Amino acid sequence: MTKEPTSKAELGAGPRVFRFAPSPNGYLHRGHAYSALLNHRAAEVTGSRLLLRIEDIDLTRARAEFETAIYEDLGWLGLTWEEPVMRQSERFDAYREALAALDRLGLLYPSFMSRREIAAATASSDWPCDPDGTTLYPGVEREWSKARREAEMARGQPYALRLDMTRALDGLPALSWREADPFAQEAPATRAADPAAWGDVVLARKALPASYHLSVVVDDAFQGVTDIVRGLDLQPSTSVHRVLQTLLDLPEPGYFHHRLILDETGAKLAKSRGSETIRARRDAGESREALIAGLGL
Ligand code: GLU
Repeated sequence: MTKEPTSKAELGAGPRVFRFAPSPNGYLHRGHAYSALLNHRAAEVTGSRLLLRIEDIDLTRARAEFETAIYEDLGWLGLTWEEPVMRQSERFDAYREALAALDRLGLLYPSFMSRREIAAATASSDWPCDPDGTTLYPGVEREWSKARREAEMARGQPYALRLDMTRALDGLPALSWREADPFAQEAPATRAADPAAWGDVVLARKALPASYHLSVVVDDAFQGVTDIVRGLDLQPSTSVHRVLQTLLDLPEPGYFHHRLILDETGAKLAKSRGSETIRARRDAGESREALIAGLGL
């Protein structure tokens, strides 16, 4: 497949780079298998590299046993990836640097409101939610004075760092991304980003040195990822990722958001709902071939 080079990363020499980036906070289910296999095959047919990245930034949820299980389950599926595998828990300095760069641009502010306070402040029935279904942050602390912020900090109040989205978008061109099925010989489609739908996203918390949005953008750039293949559930997040990539002057990867694997009731598979895991099916005697065929691959 030939494409016009349209991003800084693609302008560089060398093969394209795909990645699969699971979080070790549960066992992998068939949705993960589908995503991993798709990345693996896309890398194979395009002669690209494949990275595995362990997204263990949330130290309260990540467990070593789940990381070991990721290697076992992907190995059982017949996948191979480059070593050494990078873990996000080793990358906290890089996230701090990215936060400092955004702070120098005057785009971060501390937010002390708890989820409960946000819910109370937005209790009207027509208050909007972000694409994840979380109540949109009302922005009340955005214009707080320095003195008031310092006073809250002096009281030891925990806070999150939020991106001032309106200010961040001010002066940026309309953002978009390139979406293309890596198996189709088609020119990428241009998708308009809608970052305002997310409001002032959290980029770090007291117990979390970087949010998913920040860490994923910093690491994809650091690892030279040129092609991001992930589930459609993450498609809305791409709007935020394009903002952060632009502000931090990072290369623009290409994207493909694939269909989601659903359970018998038509619901999306989720660790939090206890969806059936790859290892449970393996232990019940299902073969690798049968599992892969069941995914429609
Ligand atoms: N770590 C994320 C997850 O487990 C995936 C991140 C991504 O592919 O951008 O859902």
